[in-house]
Amino acid sequence: MHAWQLIWRCRLPKLAPRREHVPKDSPKENRMPEEIQQAANRRVLSGMRPTGKLHIGHYVGALQNWIRLQNDYECFFFVADWHALTTDYADTSRVKSNILEMAFDWLAAGLDHEKATIFIQSHVPQHAELHLLLSMMTPLGWLERVPTYKDQKEQLKEKDLNTYGFLGYPVLQSADILMYKASHVPVGEDQVAHVEITREIARRFNQFYTGGRISYLPGENDGGGVHLREMGEKEFMAMKADVFPEPQPLLTPAPRLPGTDGRKMSKSYGNSILLSDPEAEVRRKLKPMVTDPARVRRTDPGSPDKCPVGDLHKIFSSPEKIAEVYQGCTTAGIGCLECKSWVADNIVAVLNPIQERRRKYEENPKLAWDILEAGSARARAAADQTLAEVRESMGMSLGYQVPETVAD
Ligand code: SF4
Repeated sequence: MHAWQLIWRCRLPKLAPRREHVPKDSPKENRMPEEIQQAANRRVLSGMRPTGKLHIGHYVGALQNWIRLQNDYECFFFVADWHALTTDYADTSRVKSNILEMAFDWLAAGLDHEKATIFIQSHVPQHAELHLLLSMMTPLGWLERVPTYKDQKEQLKEKDLNTYGFLGYPVLQSADILMYKASHVPVGEDQVAHVEITREIARRFNQFYTGGRISYLPGENDGGGVHLREMGEKEFMAMKADVFPEPQPLLTPAPRLPGTDGRKMSKSYGNSILLSDPEAEVRRKLKPMVTDPARVRRTDPGSPDKCPVGDLHKIFSSPEKIAEVYQGCTTAGIGCLECKSWVADNIVAVLNPIQERRRKYEENPKLAWDILEAGSARARAAADQTLAEVRESMGMSLGYQVPETVAD
């Protein structure tokens, strides 16, 4: 059995959390079933900062992918409310309502709490402890080198980001990922560096601490335990598993989704179409949307490849409709208002069922909150196991057999 599989088998609550070492030649029924081994190696973790209602950019950029992943991986999706504090620490008045609004959108879009563990980061305080422990061994230079650190400081000049929390957010992110021993983290190209630093932190931790926790293997009733020095090399290697697996980035191609002003869709630019916008609002927002500047007059031909409305068609319209748009635009056969009304039809068709499902949670917000609470309890159970292993490997477990005497 591969070390990675061994560790997962021993430590994770959903995967028969027994601690005994099962030799390779033991009867088949004592070994971990193949399909569970595979599931153990396919765990995904991802989070979103609670910014309130989500827009269609969030949907096509992340949420749709999560909905697909929950069918193929064991998924942990979390509301990253502590991460929100790294840039928005001064005003926390809307954190709770933002969490709720985002949860409505997650569930309405199709996240399924029976397939995935959906939780709130701050409801699993174990993340804070792991963050602290990892921060002790993370070199400052690694954090200062993270590309988004300088970028964000540059972009958010109006905020004072000269804080300990902001510099350390990649460590918190690493704690989030490593807490659940995620094998994969869905990210865009610009976030690969964050997974890389997590891998480096995991490696550093494993180098320092793996081994300490397996100096003694408990036996039946603890009467037949084995010290490592009594083990053969082969058996030792079978047990010498890293505490943390190194997660892999799961590159998610995110289509470019422009806002109504042609820039990237963002609530802070005021150019977004929300998942919860009613049809009339969607049409109102799309009407003045910028188009190919070459189409000054109705009779001027244009190009959907130079037009943000064309980009929306590529995401929301059928191939037949896209062909119609190309034909009509490049020959000036259609007007931009008509073209926008087509894309509005297709966006509304996507939003209608989402809004239908959202209503259930809007009418009874406790339904969504209960799902988050239940998910947080599941996450805490998994986190407890990881933390116990971390403490043990660092020689800092809560239990201690106090010696009867202390040698000089
Ligand atoms: S016809 Fe459509 S794709 Fe062409 S410029 Fe107008 S809005 Fe853009």
